[in-house]
This record gives sequence, structure tokens and C-alpha cells, in this order.
Amino acid sequence: MASFVELAVEAESSIINLTELKRVDSELNKTAVSREENDERGKYGTTTYIRRFGSWFNALGKAGLEKTRTPMNLPEEDLFQNLEEIWIKLGRQPRYAEVQKPLSKYHVGTYENRFGTWRKALEKFVAYINNEERTSSEEAIRNVEVEPSTFHKTKRGINWRLRFIVMRRDNFKCKNCGRSPATDPTIILHVDHIKAWANGGETVLENLQTLCSKCNIGKSDLE
Ligand SMILES: [Zn+2]
Repeated sequence: MASFVELAVEAESSIINLTELKRVDSELNKTAVSREENDERGKYGTTTYIRRFGSWFNALGKAGLEKTRTPMNLPEEDLFQNLEEIWIKLGRQPRYAEVQKPLSKYHVGTYENRFGTWRKALEKFVAYINNEERTSSEEAIRNVEVEPSTFHKTKRGINWRLRFIVMRRDNFKCKNCGRSPATDPTIILHVDHIKAWANGGETVLENLQTLCSKCNIGKSDLE
């Protein structure tokens, strides 16, 4: 049986190893370190961790890192779409402590695991959105050829990124009645073609507006 002194030494070197594992992890800017990555960058070999903790997964778990065998491959798109939904509900950028159930489908920790920090997750999201913004204006589609089958340059469907851009421009409020989910949780916002698609309206920023479901239904009746 191990003496007290040996146990203390054991515990101490475990801490050192885990600190080192976390260092490799933050260097890689993600939360799961693979064996290969560790062998390449880490001070201690993977076998050292396996000897110490029984398995590579145990070592990751002890270090508080995401284990590579747990689903890491939740699509980025899903994480961003969830972010979009809570942003719309709040009418502003979500705060760290707000990113949890029931408001958010995924906990803020999931974002940290994927992107390194919450701040980086937000930056990635904004960059993703801005990319869409550049391709969704009248100017951007000016020289696009008209699709002969529909006489349109754009698709009818409004993807979630464009929806977000329109709502952000409209301050997450209905353009008609001014109501917003941030002050009235029963309000659901939609993005609507100003000039109807059926009448040749394109799916571009300039031809889109935010309406609440009540005003949107009222408008459809008139069309
Ligand atoms: Zn309205």
C-alpha cells in the first residue's frame, strides 16, 4: 500500500500534468485535445496520462476538458442558429449568464468548448452573419442572371442568417406595430417580402421587413 508521502507526490504530479494538458488545450483553442495533438505539443506523452489516469478519456475528464468521444460534432450551424433565436427573443446580444435553458437550447459551456470562449463564439457568429450580409443586397445581385423558370435572381426562402440581418436592422421589432418579443414574449417575429415574391419581389435586404405574426397575417389577407 502506498504511503502518505507517495500519495501526496502522486497528487501533485497529477495536478502538474493536468495543468499542462489544459495548456496544450488552450494553445489549440479548443476543448478536446486528441492524443496526436498532445504528443505533438504537450510536455508529457499521451502514455504518461494513460498510466496516471487509466485512460486518455479519464485524463481529459479530470482536467475538465471535453472528452473526444462525447459528441463534439454538433454542427456549428446549429449553435449559431440557437444563438440567433435567443438574440431575437432578447432583442439584443445575449449575455453570458443568459445562455442556458430554457432560453437557450445549449448551455454557454457548449459554446466555450467549441470556440474557446463565449466572446470568440460571438465573434464567429457575427463574422458568419456579415458574410451573408454582403451577398444579400440589391447591389450584390445586380449582375446575377435571372433564373428563366421563376424570373427571379434570388430564392424565395429567407435563410436564418438573412432573417437575423433584417431583424437586427429593424431593431427586433415589428415594423408595423412596433411590438417585440423582448417586451412581450407572446410576440413572434417574421420576415416578410415587401414586394411579394409572386409579384417579382426579390429576397434581398431592401425588399424584406420584420413583422409580428399578427401584422403579417393581416398583410397576407390584403395580397
Ligand atoms: Zn405587428
